[in-house]
Amino acid sequence: MTMADKKKVKAYVKKKRTPQSKIIEELQSKYNTIDVAKAIKFSNLPLSKSTLKGLTENNYVEMTDIQRQSIGLALQGNDILGAAKTGSGKTLAFLIPVLEILYCKQWTRLDGLGALVITPTRELAYQIYETLRKVGQYHDISAGLVIGGKDLKFEKKRMDQCNIIICTPGRLLQHMDENPLFDCINMQILVLDEADRCLDMGFERTMNSIIENLPSKRQTLLFSATQTKSVKDLARLSLKDPLYVSVHEHSAHTTPESLQQSYITCSLEDKIAMLWSFIRNHLKQKIIVFFSSCKQVKYMYEAFCRLRPGVSLLALYGTLHQLRRMSIYESFCKKQHAVLFATDIAARGLDFPAINWVVQMDCPEDVNAYIHRAGRTARFKSNGESLLVLLPSEETMVERLKQRKIPINMIKINPSKLQSPHRKLEALLARDVTLKETAQRAFVAYVKSVFLMKDKEIFNVHALNTDAYAKSLGLAFSPRIRFLQKMQKQMAINNNVKTERETDKVSIDSSNDSEQEDNGNNSDKNDILDIPDIKNSETKNTIKNTAVLQFDDSDDDDILTIKRKNIDVDDIPIMENDDKRNKKKPLTKVALAKKILKKKIIPNKKIMFNDEGQELIDSAKVKMSELAREYENEVDSGINIEIAKQVLREEDQFDKQRFRAKIREKHKEEKRKLKAAKKAEASEEEEDADDEEMENANNDDISDGESSDGPDLSWLPDPDKIYGKQRNTDDEASSASEFEEKSEEESTVHRSSKRKLVTQENKIRKKQKVSDVDNLQADEELALQLLQN
Ligand code: ADP
Ligand code: MG
Repeated sequence: MTMADKKKVKAYVKKKRTPQSKIIEELQSKYNTIDVAKAIKFSNLPLSKSTLKGLTENNYVEMTDIQRQSIGLALQGNDILGAAKTGSGKTLAFLIPVLEILYCKQWTRLDGLGALVITPTRELAYQIYETLRKVGQYHDISAGLVIGGKDLKFEKKRMDQCNIIICTPGRLLQHMDENPLFDCINMQILVLDEADRCLDMGFERTMNSIIENLPSKRQTLLFSATQTKSVKDLARLSLKDPLYVSVHEHSAHTTPESLQQSYITCSLEDKIAMLWSFIRNHLKQKIIVFFSSCKQVKYMYEAFCRLRPGVSLLALYGTLHQLRRMSIYESFCKKQHAVLFATDIAARGLDFPAINWVVQMDCPEDVNAYIHRAGRTARFKSNGESLLVLLPSEETMVERLKQRKIPINMIKINPSKLQSPHRKLEALLARDVTLKETAQRAFVAYVKSVFLMKDKEIFNVHALNTDAYAKSLGLAFSPRIRFLQKMQKQMAINNNVKTERETDKVSIDSSNDSEQEDNGNNSDKNDILDIPDIKNSETKNTIKNTAVLQFDDSDDDDILTIKRKNIDVDDIPIMENDDKRNKKKPLTKVALAKKILKKKIIPNKKIMFNDEGQELIDSAKVKMSELAREYENEVDSGINIEIAKQVLREEDQFDKQRFRAKIREKHKEEKRKLKAAKKAEASEEEEDADDEEMENANNDDISDGESSDGPDLSWLPDPDKIYGKQRNTDDEASSASEFEEKSEEESTVHRSSKRKLVTQENKIRKKQKVSDVDNLQADEELALQLLQN
């Protein structure tokens, strides 16, 4: 054995002498002695070297409050309900325990899934995954991102190799149902980030199914800025003596201190001018603008892009393709100055760096939604500002915010200083039909979103000046809001039913507080839907009717095809079963056409009358035969070939008659003119024979052109020669056939031959004239001879 080989063996033996298990034992022994008051840095905690290295390399040195208070408790194996303000570092508060627990259990790739982190949106899952990759880079633990819109096959193959999975609920359930390689039997830790959102009605069914599949012996960590305290939620997760860690519970405000918050009241029709002016005045800032529906975001983005505000615009909403979503998310992260138009998919958890302003163009559905939207700025020691735009009818929201310890001040805008892009929008929409349709959808989507809001004290769809709003979007007319009309009708019906029932003294109360909304069957779609969720768990109002709202409008919005149960319908009672008999179908174009057909009104028919008021029938346009008329009046659809052939044959007879009559007329006219010419000739004095010939020829030419009022049809071939002669047996037919023979000769006369005929006649006439002159000459000779004699 060489010296080098000996050294290698020594090193190997040395390594073996310091087993990992001993280090782990040491770390674990310190868990119970963690002093929260003294622990300021991560290095003060008994953490593995790999974790500490990952943290320091990413400049995570000092702990935030939530990290200090919860990491130790989580390491001890407690179930935790963590609550801390937005931007206070909750992500690391759960990621560090996850890494450490798996490390201490000496988790390897072969052990399969050890920890599951569930988040409500794909972007948030991606963000957590990226943080985990940075912090956990020195651990020999694998992690996977499992979100909707990604390659399912690729994910399926690798699922069994993942020790930590970051996911959205819908996609996770899909793997649980379909993927044989997915096995969570060994799972140790379950984390719900934005836990209250994961557990609310939007994800209810999916989350219940997921929880059913997970091993009951596990540690559970829940984190949110608006943590759920609902006993029901905790029971669903079967938490064991959870510790409620709320670091800011006793602080003066619920929102970060570095966040400056204000609100304005603004009429619906001024909102766009307000936003445009705001953007134009904050070109060197990074801004997020929240709207309540995807279609509003889409329209505002497309319209403002064309108006060129002078700053980059981006839009993030659920109906975008996943790759687009990701690239927009990343590009907004990198940008220094930009405006992001977004729905509530961007409201929770996302940590865009250096946001200056959050503008909430539409009132958030509740205080929690406000806190999360505003929390996209003023994150971790940085400053930020938030502006809430309220309609005068929504001002009650301010009271709600103040009750929840949110400091918000009113600011006033001078409407005369607003720059309105209204005229430009109108011009844009006039030119671009697609954009106009987008605007129409945005309009309907907004009205619907207001209608679907649960808090009817704040959201009143009837208080909206929809016409003015449509105009402000650049639309010439308000689009029809069919669902509202439907609802109003239903309301009327319901009111009738109510009064009837009340008189019958029958209670229609069917309070059902315990059962939650049932629209979470594919909850991953929920982040696509951007539906403002309607909670009923904390409702004080009694629900008087269990309602199922189902909209199937053709101009369907993402919020249209949803089913919602247990919506508080105190204000808008809706019957579950429509009284279809009372419904009037809208008159469609097809129905209108059928109606006209039934009345036998022939549309666009022109009838001519003579001076006596009698109808003039144009035989060329009207069917003449009895059979044809009968056939026309038959309402039967389709063509009966046999009858149609017969009809054509009959009509053909009439056509021929018309044709002949025309020819006859033409020849009569020619003859008349010839006679007139002869008369004129006779009365004329003798003229030069050549000149006369010329003149006649000219006359002939003119008469040929003006022989009849109608077009010259003489050049047409005889139809009988093409279709063959059909002689009728009855009298009328025979008289017609007589004429037929005559006209047959005439009709074959062509223009040139006619001219020949006429010139021959002239020649005869000339000959006569010549012979007359000869006679005269003979007489003269005779007279001269007589004189000579
Ligand atoms: P929350 O989930 O509470 O809203 P995040 O976990 O997203 O907050 O953290 C907000 C920001 O603070 C992130 O940019 C994160 O990198 C940063 N951060 C978190 N903890 C620390 C820390 N201990 N030191 C420095 N920065 C931190
Ligand atoms: Mg977070």
